[in-house]
Amino acid sequence: MPFSTTIAGSLPKPAWLAEPERIFPSWRLEGTDLAEAQRDATRIAVSEQVRAGIDVVTDGEQNRKHFVHGFAERLAGVDSGRRQKRGIRGDRYEAVCPTVTGHVRRTAPIHVDEMRFARTLTHGPLKVTIPGPMTLVDTVVDETYGSRSDLAFAFARAIREEIAELVAVGVDVVQLDEPAFNVYFDEVAAWGIDALDTALNGAGCTTAVHVCYGYGIPANVQWKANLGERWDQYAHVLPLLAKSAVQQISIELAGSHVPPEVLALAGDKVVAVGVIDVASDRVETPDDVRATIELARRHLPDERIVCSTNCGMAPMAREIAYAKLRSLAEGALLASVGL
Ligand code: ZN
Repeated sequence: MPFSTTIAGSLPKPAWLAEPERIFPSWRLEGTDLAEAQRDATRIAVSEQVRAGIDVVTDGEQNRKHFVHGFAERLAGVDSGRRQKRGIRGDRYEAVCPTVTGHVRRTAPIHVDEMRFARTLTHGPLKVTIPGPMTLVDTVVDETYGSRSDLAFAFARAIREEIAELVAVGVDVVQLDEPAFNVYFDEVAAWGIDALDTALNGAGCTTAVHVCYGYGIPANVQWKANLGERWDQYAHVLPLLAKSAVQQISIELAGSHVPPEVLALAGDKVVAVGVIDVASDRVETPDDVRATIELARRHLPDERIVCSTNCGMAPMAREIAYAKLRSLAEGALLASVGL
């Protein structure tokens, strides 16, 4: 069986849709023009993945400005008009975040319409990405709950409601993005895994969690440079995730200092291994990708390996991102046939 391929989630947005190479871009259009442009960008994102040979595709997150804010701001209790600056991910960098001013509730579908549309674009497996409860907590300013865990479970219940509708429109894989898991190990153990499981409970589809070192933006590149020669974050997180109910864990490996042997700590989970570095504009050759897959194979059986990107590609140049997709699929094929 060839290795299955997927992407962490986002792809670059066309310059006619949003400011290019930004993680929080402004839209170029509004109203029905914006909606039509988002659908066109979704067509491109899906067809570029299919053309490259990616098996499990996403909508490239063409319908949201940002992977967290696009979800958070649609919830009742989150005031996107009241944005405040705060340090996020352990004060790795500052972000302007919406404020939680009341009890968090999901009063309307959030990503359902866009995934219903994406569903019409491919007969293959379709994945949706949603920010996980801890990452949501870490990307808002809380003026209501006073407890990160209480707020996390409120987000988890909202996510669970959203997942039910996403599965009903034909989504095959739901992935919760939890970069915050790579920062707050004590909280992951204390309530992060429980909140994740609460959000995914009874999903009725394949479930996944993505835990990474972030986009290839300067703050992350600088942080990574200070992590030393051996990044031990996953050694804390993977044993905890191994006990969760999630089926698949998406992590970063390519171009990193992640010691490959930590993969053995993932219990019996499928691991979506990052074989494409999103912090470098150098396009990996298929052989580079195969070499990274071979590293993973030393510590995981083939049937538990999925090949993916390290993280989202939203801030990258489009043509570089598309070229990386092709290398991802070609490298996975090379590894599969054992050439
Ligand atoms: Zn990521």
